[in-house]
Parts: sequence; C-alpha cells; structure tokens
Amino acid sequence: MASDRDHQDKLQQHRMQMTKMSVVNYAFESVVLALYGLTGAAPGWVAIAFFLVAVGSSMGFWAWIRLGWNLRLKDPGMLVPQIVGSWIVQFAFLAIAPQLALVFLVSLLVGFNYAMMSFDGRQFMAAFVLQVVGTGIAMLIAADRFGYPGTSAADIAILWLIFCLSTYRQTTIGTQFSLLRAKLSQKNQQLSESVARIEELASHDELTGVLNRRSFMRQVESERARCERSKQHFCVAILDIDHFKRVNDRFGHLAGDLVLKEFCAVVGACMRSADVFARYGGEEFILLLPAPTDMQAALRAAERVRGAIEAHDWGRVTPGATLTVSTGAACWDVGETIEHLLSRADQALYRAKRGGRNRVVADEDTLVAAGR
Ligand code: GH3
Ligand code: MG
Ligand code: MG
Repeated sequence: MASDRDHQDKLQQHRMQMTKMSVVNYAFESVVLALYGLTGAAPGWVAIAFFLVAVGSSMGFWAWIRLGWNLRLKDPGMLVPQIVGSWIVQFAFLAIAPQLALVFLVSLLVGFNYAMMSFDGRQFMAAFVLQVVGTGIAMLIAADRFGYPGTSAADIAILWLIFCLSTYRQTTIGTQFSLLRAKLSQKNQQLSESVARIEELASHDELTGVLNRRSFMRQVESERARCERSKQHFCVAILDIDHFKRVNDRFGHLAGDLVLKEFCAVVGACMRSADVFARYGGEEFILLLPAPTDMQAALRAAERVRGAIEAHDWGRVTPGATLTVSTGAACWDVGETIEHLLSRADQALYRAKRGGRNRVVADEDTLVAAGR
C-alpha cells in the first residue's frame, strides 16, 4: 500500500511539473506579445489579457492538482481539458489579434505535441479536426484585420525569439518522450526477467532445482509421440531413496532437505546430457532415458546412479549419514500410454524394495544388480 501511495505522489508531482511547464510557456508567450506591444505591432493590452487568461487558467489547473481534486476525475492527468483549454485560448487570441497570428499558430503547432503523450488514434483525428476548424473560424472572424507583425529589426528579433522558444518547448517535450522510452525499456527488461523467473518456478522443483513432475510429464509425453512415429524405444526409471524417513528422524528435516539436494547433484553428475531427471514427489525421482534406449542400457544407467549414491560420502552433508536408492525401470512399448509405462516402473520399484532395497529392478522382474 505504501508503494501505491509513493507511486500516486510521484504521479501528482509529475502532473504538477507538466502544468508548471505550461505556466512558464504561457508566461514566455505573454512576454513575446508584450514585446510586440512595445514595437507597436499590436496593442499592449493583448499581452496583458493573454497573460491573465492563459497563465491564470494554467495556474488554476496547477492548484486543482495541488489540492488533489484531480484524483476524483476519470482522467486525473487532466491532459485533455488542459490541451482543449489551451486551444480555446489560442483560437480566441488568434481572432482578437490576427496581426500576431504567427505567434498563436506556432504555439498551437508546438502545443499539439503534448497530445502525443496520451491521445489515441481517434482522439488525434478529433484534435486534428478541432485544430483545423478552430483556426479556420478564428481566421474567418478576423480576416479583415489580418497582417504580419512587422519587418523592423525589433520585430524580426522577436520572430527569432519565437523560434527559439518553440524549439525549446519541442526540446522539453522530446526529453519527456525519451524519459518515457527509457522507463518503458526498463519495464520491459523487468517483465522478461519476471517471466523467466515464473517459467523457472513453474517447471522446476523449488528445493532441488531439478524439473518438477509436470515438466517431466510434458517431456515424456513428447518423447512418446516422437517414438510412436520412429518406432524406437525409450525407458523410464523411478528412483526412491531408501528409508529416507529415518534420515529425517535421525538428522532432522533440514538435513533431509540437504540430502535431497545432494542426491540430485550426484544423479546429475552421472547422467547423459540427453537424459531428463525430475522430482517425482517427496523422496522419489524419475529418469527419462530417451530413444534409442533398450532395457540393458537403461539398467546400466540406473545401476550407475545406484552405485554413485551408495558410494557417495554423505557424511560431508550430514555427519554419520549413509544413503541408498531403489530403482524400478521400464521401457516403452509402441502403443503404450505413459500411465501404463509408469505403473510398470512403479511395480518394478516395489519389487526392488521388497527384494531388500539398494537395487535396480527391471519391469520384467529381472534383478540386474544389487549392492551388498
Ligand atoms: P522406503 O525405503 O520404503 O522408501 O522408506 P522411506 O522412509 O524412504 O519412505 P516413506 O514413504 O515412509 O517416507 C518418505 C519420507 O520422505 C517421509 C517424508 O517426510 C520425507 N520427505 C518427503 N519429501 C521431503 C522433503 O521435501 N524434505 C524432507 N526433508 N523430507 C521429505
Ligand atoms: Mg517413497
Ligand atoms: Mg523412500
């Protein structure tokens, strides 16, 4: 909630900053009009009237935001009312002082850029029509008084000032845009990192970091589809740590967790790169040995794992601990479902447990190797 409040405060600051910018812009435009008042190109009251209306209304918007009243609106940024308000002011003064049309037309053109920050395609078309119709009406009203500010040195200097101020306004808008772009690319970066993290969490086991059961099922299913076409064979092996409950009971659950992690590291070290290893649940793990793998090769791989687990120095993880694993292996037959294949491997595992643990048993009930 605190971060929501922070975000809100930042937005309000930004909105006030933008409104302050338009106050400054109008003040500068008033200065330009006052200078034309001095050269005699237009009556002096035009500058005063413009200052009061334009700067006054912008300060009104600023105060509105400062008081937080904008937060109750559907568009708390109030960009549309601010842009429309500025149009009305410029159109009105275009009609009032058409001899200074240049000042107001340039200002309208530059101001149009603010619309880019929030308008969508339809709003842009509406803005275009309003701009065209507004200036058209203003010019019609003042057609007989139309003119050019003047060609004296001072008038030309003011023209240059108008150009400089407009360029400056474009620069500030450009700065806002590059800030937005930078923020956007930063957000994109964060988003892709989050997606990668979510994908990692969704497909991997949190404790051991190996694939979870769901990802394994996806992989084994695609291996089945592949072998269905190629008529090759793949095998699976379910590994269940022997008497793991005792490890927990003797050394505690945390030590048990460490043993599970180490177990995965040891298995990982004796796997081929194409093999898929996953946590099947609790202290049960599963290996997919992709095609082409026959039962003999599968049993050799499972036996390699069994031997490595038995030979590993578990005392380094948990002093006094030893560990063995029982494995049931089954090879896929063309047309067989994954559920059926897994239940055959599970039955083999059951026989490995019943046969005394620390052994690999093939689904065909062939005891291939046993320790001790
Ligand atoms: P068996 O040789 O028959 O497989 O005996 P076992 O003790 O390994 O089997 P059992 O199913 O009786 O117990 C499994 C134990 O594994 C019980 C459970 O608390 C433990 N276990 C399962 N998941 C975790 C885990 O994430 N962390 C820890 N520390 N223990 C776990
Ligand atoms: Mg078990
Ligand atoms: Mg067990």
